[in-house]
Amino acid sequence: MLLKGKPLNYYKEHYDAILIGGALAGLTLAISLAEAGKSVLILEQHNLPGGIATSFVRGGFEMEAALHEMMEIGSKDEPRRIRKLLEKHGVFVDWLPVPDAYHLCLPHLDRTFHPGFDTFASEIEEVCPGSRKQVLEFLDFCRICSESATTLQEEMKNVLHILRHHLPFVRTLGYSAGEVMEAFHLPEKVREILSPYWIYVGAPLSDLPFTVYSVVMNEYIGHGAYIPKKTSHEMSLKLAERAESLGVQIEYRQKVEKILVQNGRVTGVRTARGDEIHSDIVVSGAYPTRVYQSMIEPASEVPREALQMVHSRRMNLTAFSVILILDQPKEALHLQDYCWFHAAHMNSDELFAELKDLRGSRTTASICLNNANPSATPEGYTSFSVTMMPRVEAWQSVTADNYDLVRHELAKELIDDMSEALGVPLSDHIAEIVIETPMTFARYVGSPYGGVYGYSHSMRDHTVARTMTPEAEEFISGLYFTGAHGAGGDGMAPVIGNGANVARRILSRPGT
Ligand SMILES: Cc1cc2nc3c(=O)[nH]c(=O)nc-3n(C[C@H](O)[C@H](O)[C@H](O)COP(=O)(O)OP(=O)(O)OC[C@H]3O[C@@H](n4cnc5c(N)ncnc54)[C@H](O)[C@@H]3O)c2cc1C
Repeated sequence: MLLKGKPLNYYKEHYDAILIGGALAGLTLAISLAEAGKSVLILEQHNLPGGIATSFVRGGFEMEAALHEMMEIGSKDEPRRIRKLLEKHGVFVDWLPVPDAYHLCLPHLDRTFHPGFDTFASEIEEVCPGSRKQVLEFLDFCRICSESATTLQEEMKNVLHILRHHLPFVRTLGYSAGEVMEAFHLPEKVREILSPYWIYVGAPLSDLPFTVYSVVMNEYIGHGAYIPKKTSHEMSLKLAERAESLGVQIEYRQKVEKILVQNGRVTGVRTARGDEIHSDIVVSGAYPTRVYQSMIEPASEVPREALQMVHSRRMNLTAFSVILILDQPKEALHLQDYCWFHAAHMNSDELFAELKDLRGSRTTASICLNNANPSATPEGYTSFSVTMMPRVEAWQSVTADNYDLVRHELAKELIDDMSEALGVPLSDHIAEIVIETPMTFARYVGSPYGGVYGYSHSMRDHTVARTMTPEAEEFISGLYFTGAHGAGGDGMAPVIGNGANVARRILSRPGT
């Protein structure tokens, strides 16, 4: 019991850094700072680490809350950036490869494609004879630009080196994915097959920087996707355990209400419990939109430019997911692949416009976890999820009065659509069901409008510009941000990279 006037002494007088939120980005950052000998406090509002990277148990089944697939992991023998980074920091996750790239279901095309440039190009050749060489040239170009983008993440300061030695990357900076595809004169059908990942990054190909697209293609198609064997919660738990073993103090059930600022400098935070804790560095996992609109104390310390910045950014997509445990083995349900993309066509401009309307034509991504992880469910059961990714505007027509109705109707429509596509009445086999809506994410991680992918990637708000000029977003001295809202940050692998990058920036700060 708390005695009035005698608060429990959870905290030190002063920390080198205080982190708001113990999710993937914050935990990675904390580990980097702790390894450099810094005293770090993480304040997490929930009773477990990971944010969206988590799982939950319903009816005795453990259900993955979010993760479809992760990029930049690679195999043990050929590790990619994020596996290397985690292992360098002593975090060893049991990774499982995802067997297919995707099963693309369009009215005029229905087939599965697999990772590996050669395999992928040969499979496209079967559908579009004569295209193999061109496809391989295009994919190789993606590889070159993607490797440059990775170098940029790791050597942010070395701009001149980047300009001199990464010409294809520099030349394509001003071009969208759609424009580069056009420059390669790829046939329409080939372009359709190369397009479905646009929904995972939330921008139509005409407005998606080619840089972002090249990384997604090189990592998912070139190197394949991976998932942790024990759900994304395994990754979060292992990061938190490693952080604590390095001396990071993690306090759960502690929501930060205010970030304290004096004369343009951060001085600490105040929690909902009323504790004031001091540090010259505060790193927020909460979105800049939330921080500048309601968390800075006093509000007069919010720079006008910071508000202008958050108002100028567009929230990226949110998600509506139906997660099912089905009482049949996957074979009986015709679930032979890991990932499906369903859409009425592949014109990403039109599809993106339709994401404004919950009832519009839908692009869905469906995942059968058992195809990468046979132990995802007890024997005889199957884990299957269907996700649509509406724009945040789409959900604004939902009110407190019609929320339940919309939620149930949409879930039913998604289940019916997939039942029809698979030729199996899925609703006859539901052992457990969870419906996640934008409200779920808004409530759980505090993202504005329930956004799950940070701010939109677009040609006018380019990830490379944001990555190369991080100081342009430092409006209050000592206040940093890390997470899906950071530069290059959306998605689980990118946020881990973002946490490491922000740690490097903090450690290179004069006097740190
Ligand atoms: C349905 C769905 C599917 C997805 N699929 C994929 C996928 O297949 N691949 C992929 O790479 N990514 C995927 N993502 C995206 C990915 O999950 C996120 O981009 C990533 O996990 C975000 O991590 P983060 O570190 O930014 O923190 P978040 O997960 O957003 O968590 C923020 C943390 O900060 C805490 N916090 C916030 N405010 C406060 C406060 N005031 N005080 C204390 N604590 C606070 C929250 O409690 C939370 O723990 C998916 C997301 C969803 C919703």
